[in-house]
Amino acid sequence: MVLNQEIIDKIHRLPKVELHRHMEGCISAELLLEIARDYNVKLPTDNLEELRSLIQIKGRVGSLQEFLDKFYWVGMAFPTLEAVERVSYCVCRDCARDNIRVLELRFSPVFMSLETPHGWEELLHAVLKGARRAENEFDINVGFIVGISRSNGLKLAMKAVNIAGSYVGLGVVGVDLFGDEAAFPPELFIPAFKVAQAQGLNVTIHAGEGGGETNVRTAIEELGARRIGHGIRIINDEKLMAWIRDRGIPLEIALTSNVQTQTVPDLASHPVRRLYDYGIKISLNTDDPAICDTTFSKELLLAMEVFDFTLDEIKGLMLSAFDQSFLEEYRKKMLRPKLEMELAGVK
Ligand SMILES: [Zn+2]
Repeated sequence: MVLNQEIIDKIHRLPKVELHRHMEGCISAELLLEIARDYNVKLPTDNLEELRSLIQIKGRVGSLQEFLDKFYWVGMAFPTLEAVERVSYCVCRDCARDNIRVLELRFSPVFMSLETPHGWEELLHAVLKGARRAENEFDINVGFIVGISRSNGLKLAMKAVNIAGSYVGLGVVGVDLFGDEAAFPPELFIPAFKVAQAQGLNVTIHAGEGGGETNVRTAIEELGARRIGHGIRIINDEKLMAWIRDRGIPLEIALTSNVQTQTVPDLASHPVRRLYDYGIKISLNTDDPAICDTTFSKELLLAMEVFDFTLDEIKGLMLSAFDQSFLEEYRKKMLRPKLEMELAGVK
């Protein structure tokens, strides 16, 4: 589809639902610089463009690890609890400005605590406080997913799950496993995710991205994943595709991120359309918009431009993402009619 200004405006106005976005990957060079100035954080440069080139990917990276390395300076954005709250507020505010009405935002307490003396519970509290402030000011609803980095090992995974569990019903809706999938396969974390399920936490797992498609099956069967982050390597296994379709397990797709991490050779060969046409539930997402230099609207427009998704299909994807969301059922019951009405209003 050829894009024009009319469709670009419509997609911006469209009420949106995003399920896979890392808070750490939403910190722009501008925000990082502001925080560095206000809290006396030492960065390698105070030049905006230089800082941007340190944290943002241009083109593609050599490996998932190289992608993850981009996060090093972003870790400086959390020197105090006030800064954590501010980051959380700014990220949710920016999403609201892109007309995201329902957002699931994930963050890693381990990563956030690297440059601060504060404990995980205090950090979690500050994150929730920032989001609540944005929810009061803007038309957005936010649920949090506590991210567990594979490279931090099982012990810290267990700690993260236990803290996340104590915030069920208070803003935390689930847990996620992310990071170097090839070096740390999902089965290493089975005990932690058994505890997560027992605590009423919803589970989503990054799988079939930097590692093989069999990780997707393990994530679902052994770790209790109700959604899969990326999962696009299932395209290599037709039986697995049918199994996932029949189970109704959604894949959280992020087009630009998948190209940059070399999960696909180039955008045109991304299997998003094939997965969708096969009947597999999907959602579209940004993953790490500040690192990937994208926005949610841009990702939806890419899907339309490169994969011929129509406006009606994009609207359908928003509703389907809403239904896939881990937000509490009472909130979903309340929000769905309004979302339907607003979607119908964009023609
Ligand atoms: Zn991700």
